Amino acid sequence: PSVLQDSVIQVPKVRWADIAGLEHVQQELESIIIRPLKSPENNVMFGAPPSRKGILLYGPPGCAKTLIAQAMATESNQNFLAVKGSELIKMYVGESERAIRDVFRRARAAKPCIIFFDEIDSIGKSRKDSQDSGLNVVTTLLNEMDGIEALKEVFIMGATNRPDILDSALTRPGRFDAHIHIGLPTGEARKQIFEIHTRKSPLAQDVDLDVLAAKTEGNSGADIKGMCSVAVEKAIADYTQARDAGLNSPPEIRMEHFERSLKKHVP
Ligand code: ATP
Repeated sequence: PSVLQDSVIQVPKVRWADIAGLEHVQQELESIIIRPLKSPENNVMFGAPPSRKGILLYGPPGCAKTLIAQAMATESNQNFLAVKGSELIKMYVGESERAIRDVFRRARAAKPCIIFFDEIDSIGKSRKDSQDSGLNVVTTLLNEMDGIEALKEVFIMGATNRPDILDSALTRPGRFDAHIHIGLPTGEARKQIFEIHTRKSPLAQDVDLDVLAAKTEGNSGADIKGMCSVAVEKAIADYTQARDAGLNSPPEIRMEHFERSLKKHVP
């Protein structure tokens, strides 16, 4: 039995269209991952190394790092194996190392496969700051990454909110050697995130997503998703209350529901 309960191999259903405002990241990832896979002869022609093995996504929480890794897997028809760094390090001595080796073994068996290490900083904390167990975990990860041949269809993605505390051995060429910053969404992206997360909901005429986008500066995509859920809850509560009182109220989410969910939310 795997010690990593959550790390099942899956083919995620997330597509680029589900992610707002990160087209530049999509393009960068396609040129790093997909293009060399499709036409390896270009790399030979240009005398470039085969390709990269790992990409680090960094930036504030809730800004689609996980979504991007999942969309990358879906759009390039790869399997996806997700591992949480914090799960790995709470294991007993020796167990974490075994779990890491197990993850790479399973990924090779399921290739083409992307391994996604979320919260990679908890494994990759600078070795000098951590005790012996931390050191072994990082060493095992480095060994496994070195054992992967670029373009041999296992690709590694890592995500962190704390790139500053990562062990520099992890960010060296041949490991997580491309670093992509994923920042807070812009106004236009926030509007799209509202759209994505209300796609299936009946919005009233008065809902103005431009206004909502303008009022949510500094919020992450996850924050906005949360506000949409709260607005829906409030709309349902109003609808049921009106219906129970014998009033005729349409099943819709009005601007006031969003306004109330915004007020409650502290970023
Ligand atoms: P963490 O660092 O906390 O793990 P993360 O950067 O990996 O966060 P995700 O888990 O990918 O963030 O995002 C959380 C949720 O927020 C997503 O499942 C998605 O519903 C929503 N979300 C965040 N950013 C976007 C975006 N740009 N477009 C659409 N949805 C988004």
